[in-house]
Amino acid sequence: MKFDHILIRFGEISTKGRNRRKFIDRLKNNVRDVLTDFPNLEYQGTRDRLYIHLHNEDHEVIVERLKNIFGIQSFSLAIKCKSDISEIKEMALKAVNSVFQPYDTFKVTTKRADKQFPLDTNELNYQIGSHVLINTEDLTVDVKNPKINLRVEVRKEATYLTCYDFKGAGGLPVGSGGKAMLLLSGGIDSPVAGFLTLKRGVELEVIHFFSPPYTSERAKQKVIDLARELTAFGGKIKLHIVPFTAIQEKIQEQVPENYTMTSTRRMMLKIADKLREKQQALALITGESLGQVASQTLESMVAINDVTSTPIIRPLITMDKLEIIEISKSIGTHDISIRPYEDCCTIFTPANPKTKPKLEKVSRFESFVDFDELVSQSLNKVETIVITKEQKEKFDNLL
Ligand code: ATP
Ligand code: MG
Repeated sequence: MKFDHILIRFGEISTKGRNRRKFIDRLKNNVRDVLTDFPNLEYQGTRDRLYIHLHNEDHEVIVERLKNIFGIQSFSLAIKCKSDISEIKEMALKAVNSVFQPYDTFKVTTKRADKQFPLDTNELNYQIGSHVLINTEDLTVDVKNPKINLRVEVRKEATYLTCYDFKGAGGLPVGSGGKAMLLLSGGIDSPVAGFLTLKRGVELEVIHFFSPPYTSERAKQKVIDLARELTAFGGKIKLHIVPFTAIQEKIQEQVPENYTMTSTRRMMLKIADKLREKQQALALITGESLGQVASQTLESMVAINDVTSTPIIRPLITMDKLEIIEISKSIGTHDISIRPYEDCCTIFTPANPKTKPKLEKVSRFESFVDFDELVSQSLNKVETIVITKEQKEKFDNLL
């Protein structure tokens, strides 16, 4: 018995009222995007389901990729047949036979989308269930906690039978919630922040500040690899690499040591915000977590955040480091993040950064330098690369 379809159930999309069509189309495109190397697949969307006709393609790789797509609540391997009771009964038996083991328990759950169908759900459950029971051995019914839940969806055009569900990634389809710029360092936190934002349907572009010769090509490669991991969840990502050396050197020269970190963050934010505007994104995202380091206290946030009124999303703000590490492991970024490297911030880290910097002070220190000129110079030298998933697979093959 071969499953010929995958049936995809939506999560929160179902509650999005008038925007629903847009959400579904977006999801369909995102699913297509990760499955472009399966040209035979055929897609069909209805108001509450997306069906993929497998046309004999092997489902295993497809199942693994679908698990990463936001906007999917759950999905199942399915068999399609005519909406005709004797055919449904026969297919149900085949489906159960292909998965059951002796002493398994099962139940039938019918959903009757076609209200004109001559049998109601109770009768359907009964007829299908008894047909399966009569024709199998060592299978019993358990309506509360069955091992196999044979789900039957009777629709006008066809009936779909499924008996194993995969959990989807939840969230909303990437791109349905606009675009934001992720400040991606080489650390553990910012990739996790990016992942969590993608989960809520927001498309990402990525910004990385690097300071050659203080930071090496290796550090840059690390960020490229991290961005590539994120493409598994949201498709291709634009990465903007911003030269930051001149600004950092100027800060070292002009700003008292315990305020250099505050100033550095402010400059990063200024540049990121300019890039955001140029790329028509709506928000900035960072991996900050309250109290984790001196630049992440509430007082520091007041002093740093002052350079922009753009919304800054900080998905990790209330998380403990261990919680963040756990997510980074589950999304595959952890091992890249812990590669040794030099970050442009750690290199210039002062011995005693201010944990309670004063906005008036930092503004005054900066006022003696034309930072705006340096900011626009560095913006003029931004290097942009597009990171795709295909590159990742090619790269993996080389290893
Ligand atoms: P991470 O693990 O993400 O590096 P962190 O705990 O090391 O975070 P900081 O180094 O203080 O924290 O950085 C705070 C946030 O600032 C980062 O999460 C990231 O969003 C941004 N950031 C820091 N350094 C860079 C950089 N070189 N390029 C881009 N963004 C950066
Ligand atoms: Mg860091």
